Amino acid sequence: MFNKILIANRGEIALRILRACRELGIKTVAVHSTADRDLKHVRLADETVCIGGAAATGSYLNMAAIISAAEVTQADAIHPGYGFLSENADFAESVEKSGFVFIGPRSETIRLMGGKTTAKAEMIAAGVPCVPGSDGILPDDEAECLAIAEKVGYPVLIKAAFGGGGRGMHVVRKPADLIGSIKIARQEALQAFKDGSVFLEKYLEVPRHIEIQVLADEHGNAVFLGERDCSMQRRNQKVIEEATAPGITPAQRAEIGKLCTDACKRIGYRGAGTMEFLYENGRFYFI
Ligand code: ADP
Repeated sequence: MFNKILIANRGEIALRILRACRELGIKTVAVHSTADRDLKHVRLADETVCIGGAAATGSYLNMAAIISAAEVTQADAIHPGYGFLSENADFAESVEKSGFVFIGPRSETIRLMGGKTTAKAEMIAAGVPCVPGSDGILPDDEAECLAIAEKVGYPVLIKAAFGGGGRGMHVVRKPADLIGSIKIARQEALQAFKDGSVFLEKYLEVPRHIEIQVLADEHGNAVFLGERDCSMQRRNQKVIEEATAPGITPAQRAEIGKLCTDACKRIGYRGAGTMEFLYENGRFYFI
């Protein structure tokens, strides 16, 4: 059991972590920006450290300042919450190298699952159904790209390998548009994510978007916590989540839950995780 946890986040998630720590009798350190001095979790925490200015880059994204705060307060572990540094493999690695526990996945897992093509390859190996696609990053050779898209079948969707937030995606409905769209997608990916690698997969016209929630520990245990329907989206970003997802039979639920927990065990996943799927004609496809 930890004695003291540093909360490296703000707002509602910081408050929830604080509440969980209280229930478990664990002391808390709230790190905060100059603008957040009066936030509720800062007022309620056992100790507080101001780690920088209002801009997140100087505070909640400032790895060195957060780790220093853990050192001076002698915390045992750092909880990153969600967003900010929670999916940053370099941060997770620095935290553990500095002798603290990172409450989240191992840095290797964050790296593996942070790349969409590496994540998909890993899921295919684990027997999780995926949207058919390029099986890796698209090559530079145009003829090869055309052949891959032909094999997958139009329409296809070009996606940034290291993208997120629904950005940099392009639907291509005919071969004549493929190469131009790949070029634009590469450019956008490079600008937005500092990596121009793109891949393609079959574009599903009217899928539902269903997320599977899992929780795993470092001893190889993983549990399935149910699913939610996140189909109500605007610009490929969720607006409303509905749990449990309507229309999923108990048998389908049990099957996808087991596939996901087995995959977590296989990759040594640790912490809370969300696996995203498209759902069409009664079938799940990992994306
Ligand atoms: P991000 O990491 O940017 O959220 P995702 O791969 O999760 O990217 O895709 C975001 C959204 O884009 C999905 O929720 C879905 O609405 C849509 N999408 C992604 N892949 C496909 C696909 N192959 N076919 C149809 N829609 C897709």
